[in-house]
Amino acid sequence: MTAPPAATAPATWYHATVPAAPARPALSGTVRTRVCVVGGGLCGVSAALHLAERGIDTVLLESETIGHGASGRNGGQIVQGFSASMDRVAAAVGRADAQAFWDMGREAIADIPDRVERHGIDCDLRWGYLIAALNRRQLGELHETVAEWAGYGYTGPSIVEGAAVRSVLGTDLYVGGMLEPGSGQLHPLAYLRGLAGAAEAAGARLFEQSPATAIEHGTTVRIGTPGGTVVADTLVLAGNAYLGRLVPSIRRRLMPVASFVGVTEPLGEERARRLFPQDVAVADCNVALDYFRLTADRRLLFGAGASYSATTPVGLKGWLARRFRRVFPELTDVAVEYAWGGLIGITHNRIPDLGRLKPNVLYAQGFSGQGMALTGLAGKLMAETVAGDDSRFRLVERVRHLPFPGGILRTPTLVAAMGLLKLKDRLGW
Ligand SMILES: Cc1cc2nc3c(=O)[nH]c(=O)nc-3n(C[C@H](O)[C@H](O)[C@H](O)COP(=O)(O)OP(=O)(O)OC[C@H]3O[C@@H](n4cnc5c(N)ncnc54)[C@H](O)[C@@H]3O)c2cc1C
Repeated sequence: MTAPPAATAPATWYHATVPAAPARPALSGTVRTRVCVVGGGLCGVSAALHLAERGIDTVLLESETIGHGASGRNGGQIVQGFSASMDRVAAAVGRADAQAFWDMGREAIADIPDRVERHGIDCDLRWGYLIAALNRRQLGELHETVAEWAGYGYTGPSIVEGAAVRSVLGTDLYVGGMLEPGSGQLHPLAYLRGLAGAAEAAGARLFEQSPATAIEHGTTVRIGTPGGTVVADTLVLAGNAYLGRLVPSIRRRLMPVASFVGVTEPLGEERARRLFPQDVAVADCNVALDYFRLTADRRLLFGAGASYSATTPVGLKGWLARRFRRVFPELTDVAVEYAWGGLIGITHNRIPDLGRLKPNVLYAQGFSGQGMALTGLAGKLMAETVAGDDSRFRLVERVRHLPFPGGILRTPTLVAAMGLLKLKDRLGW
């Protein structure tokens, strides 16, 4: 194997605060394996881990370094359910199977503490979440969500309104919110690196700086990289929004949307406790939502987006500071130390897109901003399928995913659609 070229890690607070990762080789020569996974994010790494644990020979190719994509840049929020409402899931698969979907979502969350404990991953896992309403319409929708989830047997969340919000969060911006004890937060890159180490310990071979650039289908699949070739019985595609144009047929069903994250200098213990009395992670209800939380070293980690145009706001740190000062006006003296952007893979209906391109080519993409837990489930379902039991994968595969508009109209059409939704949020309709 050749030595990897110098790693190109994104300049995130996450990359600055995890211990150095072990050097991994770039692929060279021809390697034969049962399964080749393309993509070293949470989905691909979790697929590799589940496969290796089942004794299935697995090679993973990552074009940069593990966690280069959304998994090493995200808000670190673990969120219950799906980005789509359960009504929409039920419309797609029927009410009985929607229950199976819901239960799998719960399993996806439960798997996180299980993995953290089993592999001794130090990733600052904490529980407690507030979905915050900016107006009465949004608060009404949160009441409906509480009732909807109760219909699926989950009665964890409760509504806080008016002055009671202050006991959860030090701001007067929100009219209320849904307090959700079963959702939470962690350091996503530390978690992912822990999973990657566990996958290697179980026997998976991980290659970095090894982009898959060509795929040749057949009874075995040949995956070419600049330095070598993997010959596999089965290919698992887990490149999501970072897969680019490698597989045009699945790209049409995915819209990469930009979102941006900033991390401030430390707030200090007293101020952190005052602004986050219950230390919850928070997201508001807007389409282009704000999401934020405290880091372990008591900085404010604040994310905002999303934009279909994928252009970075001019003066990103200042742009993020203006956004978080709307929530916490007192933070005028606090500077943003880290700022970065990333791509979220969104589907039309906001339900993850799992499927088969060929009998021996599986893919998973489009977690629509809620991939922290659902990627783990997708990896698990793909491993089950390779091992011979595709019953749960078939359930998810049944969901129909519409393509986004193509050609030169793709971006302008979506920017206009997003603009209308943002206006609706601003006016409180
Ligand atoms: C800014 C931001 C904030 C977010 N916040 C949250 C949040 O708080 N909570 C939440 O649940 N979700 C959040 N998400 C979404 C979540 O991060 C994703 O759903 C999840 O990380 C997707 O994981 P993945 O493994 O499918 O894709 P990725 O993590 O994007 O991994 C794909 C990997 O594939 C690699 N790759 C692509 N093409 C190739 C190729 N040809 N060959 C080899 N490798 C390739 C890429 O380099 C990349 O590392 C956020 C996303 C972003 C961008």
